[in-house]
Amino acid sequence: MKTIRLLEGKERSLLRRHPWVFEGSVAKGRADPGETVRVESHDGRFLAWGAYSGTSRIRVRAWSFDEAERIDHAFFKRRIDAALALRRRLAPASSGVRLVHGEADGLPGLVVDRYGDTLSAQFLAAGTERWKQALADILVERTGCARLYERSDSGVRGLEGLEPVTGWLRGEGGTEVTIDEHGWSLTLDVATGHKTGFYLDQRDSRAAFARWVRHYGLQDVLNCYSYTGGFAVAALAGGAARVTNVDSSAPALERLAANVALNGFDAARSTAVDADVNAFLRAALKQGRRFDAIVLDPPKFAPTAAHAERAARAYKDINRLALQLLAPGGLLLTFSCSGGIGAELFHKIVAGAAIDAGVDGAILARLEGAPDHPTTLTFPEGEYLKGLAILASSPGSPGARPGGLAAKALEEQRGIGDAG
Ligand code: SAH
Repeated sequence: MKTIRLLEGKERSLLRRHPWVFEGSVAKGRADPGETVRVESHDGRFLAWGAYSGTSRIRVRAWSFDEAERIDHAFFKRRIDAALALRRRLAPASSGVRLVHGEADGLPGLVVDRYGDTLSAQFLAAGTERWKQALADILVERTGCARLYERSDSGVRGLEGLEPVTGWLRGEGGTEVTIDEHGWSLTLDVATGHKTGFYLDQRDSRAAFARWVRHYGLQDVLNCYSYTGGFAVAALAGGAARVTNVDSSAPALERLAANVALNGFDAARSTAVDADVNAFLRAALKQGRRFDAIVLDPPKFAPTAAHAERAARAYKDINRLALQLLAPGGLLLTFSCSGGIGAELFHKIVAGAAIDAGVDGAILARLEGAPDHPTTLTFPEGEYLKGLAILASSPGSPGARPGGLAAKALEEQRGIGDAG
């Protein structure tokens, strides 16, 4: 067993059960890609077992902080069983479930989503790459799913010195699957979809959106960064009259139209626009358009904190435009999936955008990833998705309707406050 010795003082993060060892913390020791190593402090105390990666800045990802634990087939079976047990307790309202969420499940570098009876997995680090065959066997055995598609084509594999790999790892056949989410049917393709095929992390926000659309009687919806139409189907299910969907991916928009049809909605209620969202928002503003509800669910603008400043400007820009396009009393659902932008900073960015737009609003809810994408206490980096549901009020503006939707929201909030 090879040993990685840390520099003095660099044991603190492992002692706090944070699973990463950065290259700058290592005093000596090396191993093969993905090989299990013993990590110890400068004076030889055991800290963790982990997977070594010679090319990544994250030199070791910890498997276990228990010296007595052996990192073998049985270890991975225990970890996967624990992840599956957690999902059974959470019981998501869908046949699409994130079964393994990397570090949060004690399996750094492994992401596994279940879509019906098909698994779709990403092996993102040297450690999970090395244990891939064992992990595939265990996943198939413990879930009862016969098929497992590999989507190891994420850019982060390059940082680990790994090539992209895709294809069936177990089983075979067509790559299109249909999941049930909140009673809606949504299709996806595990081979060509984004990430493992679908954005399961927005499941709960899609359900909340459908409820709000119905409760506030919202009619005209703008769904920005629509992907394959999860929020579009939610809006229509909530009774919206029309949804305008904007995305720069033509295949995603084709699937969106198919998903709208699959759920029995009239195609005339949904429009797909293949465009850059920023450009679309500016053009819509020039045309004087207004929407009762807007969803802004952009891709990651800031992968790490180093990108935060530029990303903050980009978030502020689209949020300002969206708030200007919102009808008085309208609802904005705005998200950031950037690990480098915390919830507090995101709130500040949106508040700044609202000031520039001349719009005020009540925060109806703070949104986050669905609980099958858990955040653990010891790994704050896992908290990537955050959002705000804002009910706009604009008393000073010409179109403001006293006693309109925003007033209704405030009444409700007061009601909640009184009850408490
Ligand atoms: N809301 C979706 C997920 C959105 S993912 C859901 O619930 O499933 C982000 C989407 O933004 C992707 O579909 C991607 O194609 C799209 N996208 C990325 N950059 C864009 C841009 N500049 N303009 C429009 N769409 C963009």
